[in-house]
Amino acid sequence: MNIIVCISSVPDTTSKIKFNENSEFDTNGIQFIINPYDEFGLTKAVKIKECLGGTITVVTVGDTASEPVIRKALAIGADKAVRINTNPKDSFETASLISEHIKDIEYDIIIAGRESIDYNGSAVPCMIAEILDIPFINACIGLNLNDNTADLVREVDGGKEFISSPLPLIIGGQKGLVEESELLIPNMRGIMQSRTKPLEIIEPENIVNRVQSISLESPPEKKECRLVEEGNVKELITLLQNEAKVI
Ligand SMILES: Cc1cc2nc3c(=O)[nH]c(=O)nc-3n(C[C@H](O)[C@H](O)[C@H](O)COP(=O)(O)OP(=O)(O)OC[C@H]3O[C@@H](n4cnc5c(N)ncnc54)[C@H](O)[C@@H]3O)c2cc1C
Repeated sequence: MNIIVCISSVPDTTSKIKFNENSEFDTNGIQFIINPYDEFGLTKAVKIKECLGGTITVVTVGDTASEPVIRKALAIGADKAVRINTNPKDSFETASLISEHIKDIEYDIIIAGRESIDYNGSAVPCMIAEILDIPFINACIGLNLNDNTADLVREVDGGKEFISSPLPLIIGGQKGLVEESELLIPNMRGIMQSRTKPLEIIEPENIVNRVQSISLESPPEKKECRLVEEGNVKELITLLQNEAKVI
């Protein structure tokens, strides 16, 4: 099986997000991690390879700052990596650059995450599917590969959907592909090997931006919480009318 895993390098969830004076994300002091949804996909890819053999290639669109995350993916078990050297400015740019690279290589399945936890667009995998004209199954919580088909389980509102699809296809994966307890932590051997595994850097030729970010702003600061004594309905109504101005 030739498996491609799309890895997005995202700020650690505990990071304090700031924007600079140009309304750009300020990466100073930010720790980057493998997008959590991609970590489930990568672990699943390693498990598939253990059963069926094959090659795992990690693809990331990002600048040099994404390399520690790529090396971590190699330490976890990917065989090689490709970094498309640009800082993507929108989902279509990311999807078209990944598709442009993938269209000329042999693959059976592309494993992406359900969403990237930085911009939460949930747009990249479905755009790749459209560009490459392959099936796309999102919110995937189960995957079994046979010779030319995949049996998939998808989370739907209030239940599960069982799907069969021909290969190649792309999935948007999440917890359930593997459980949290199964996530692989790189061991010393993996970390040493990751330093010598191939990391190809591609300079993008055609960058197409379809959207432009005009400005970014943080959500309003939360107001101080006011506690009203139990049973004091009069004061509660006065506060809602005069301070919160919601009634
Ligand atoms: C309007 C807008 C403006 C932006 N401006 C900037 C900016 O100025 N500077 C900046 O650095 N970023 C910017 N970004 C963020 C960057 O473009 C996104 O991180 C990226 O396009 C992912 O888009 P998404 O949120 O739709 O990913 P999703 O579709 O939510 O991600 C789903 C999956 O797609 C794959 N994927 C996503 N991104 C990548 C990637 N880069 N490489 C490989 N696989 C990936 C992963 O498997 C991920 O789990 C901007 C995004 C938007 C929407």
